[in-house]
Amino acid sequence: MHDFEAVIGLEIHVELSTDSKIFCSCPTAFGAEVNTQCCPICLGLPGTLPAINRKALEYTVKAGLALNCQIARHTWFDRKNYFYPDLPKAYQVSQQDAPLCFDGYLEVPVGEGAKRVGINRVHLEEEVGKSLHAGETIIDAAYSLLDYNRAGIPLIEIVTEPDIRSAEEAQVFLERLRNILRYIDISDCKMQEGSLRCDANISLRPKGSTEFGTKTEIKNLNSFRAVRRALEYEINRQAGLLRDGRPVEPETRHWDEQKGVTIAMRSKRQASYYRCFADPDLVPIDLSDEWIGQIEGELPELPGARRRRFIDEYGLPEYDAQVLTSSKEMADFFEEVVQGYNDPKTVSNWIMTEILRYVNEQGEEAEGIPLTATGLVELLQLIEGGVINRNQAKEIVLPEMVAAGKSPRQIVKEKGLEQISDTSQLEGIVASVLEANPDVVQDYLGGKDKVMGFLVGQVLKATKGKANPRLVNEMIREKLKR
Ligand SMILES: [Zn+2]
Repeated sequence: MHDFEAVIGLEIHVELSTDSKIFCSCPTAFGAEVNTQCCPICLGLPGTLPAINRKALEYTVKAGLALNCQIARHTWFDRKNYFYPDLPKAYQVSQQDAPLCFDGYLEVPVGEGAKRVGINRVHLEEEVGKSLHAGETIIDAAYSLLDYNRAGIPLIEIVTEPDIRSAEEAQVFLERLRNILRYIDISDCKMQEGSLRCDANISLRPKGSTEFGTKTEIKNLNSFRAVRRALEYEINRQAGLLRDGRPVEPETRHWDEQKGVTIAMRSKRQASYYRCFADPDLVPIDLSDEWIGQIEGELPELPGARRRRFIDEYGLPEYDAQVLTSSKEMADFFEEVVQGYNDPKTVSNWIMTEILRYVNEQGEEAEGIPLTATGLVELLQLIEGGVINRNQAKEIVLPEMVAAGKSPRQIVKEKGLEQISDTSQLEGIVASVLEANPDVVQDYLGGKDKVMGFLVGQVLKATKGKANPRLVNEMIREKLKR
């Protein structure tokens, strides 16, 4: 690969989390019974008229602003004509010539520095229905069924410039993009439910060349890991062809997750022609500076700004701030815990080691933090108050909080973990330990400080480890004043 440079561009489709569909008032909830969330409008029956969902426009503008785009002041919708069973109208309402947002960028970390990946456009369109094939794959299916619940959910398409240079960069870009879209709360971005989907265009060229090679498009990338693996595979495949002096065919390829290979699906030699034209049923849209300004004013703090604030406001190291703001849930969780337990660095350490371990176990589609902020606050208070020690907290209480959703106090009580910090309960035990070890006591009184460890250990043993060691230490010192 060292003689070639990869040129990668991504096309990302994101379902917007509006309550209703783009041109009708059907609900958009995921997982409803098939064909229960559709009406004559989203089924495209003759005689129906669509009306644009204002929220869908607002969300698209939000995405554009968060991705540093220009926002069009005058735009419209086009009909993209093609036939497919999941598209009952035989045209998809999309934006061909006048995308709502254009000319933006997203900054991604590369090595020690950062680079800008250009955003060519963000446009708004309608989602199509879903085909359910009766069989393993579309190829061996005896028949297919159609679910139109999804038809008409608002969808944005984000198209990058071909600025990405490696499979790893593509993955980092997608992670950053998803993080931003979740921060601005316009989509749940769940790849496993299809609300965020990605296609990748990739070509190779000799290092130093400025011309583009022949590209292939990879489809069916259902996770960040798939994007990375598919691009790595395709880079090697194309490099192999070029080294042998064979051409790369312009084609659409399908990523086979099981086999770990891309497979040719169809040639791209003939460009698709959709006969796009402005949809006469939808009026053109003029966006006022005032409305755009208002949306901009309502944008929440974005990941980059929040990272800088975490450094300034909480005195966190750059690394901590980066990790904590890498998801909105985690950053929110951190701030909520700090409200109740005002020691940011301790809270950060707990989240970055103990809590993140649980989040990572859920994989890249993490559903969020598996416990409440109040739970963690309570746990930290129990440690600080000497009720339990750090190890008990990490090894016994926290796993139980995650698994059973119980409060730390309840777990400590149920498991009898409470340290004995009451001198009256320890008095008798301390006395009997001293009585049983007269020689050791003599050694201590003679100046051998290190035997103290043994005496404290005996008390801990007698209390099955529940005595507060610091307190026992103080009590013995008091009794054996030299
Ligand atoms: Zn509908």
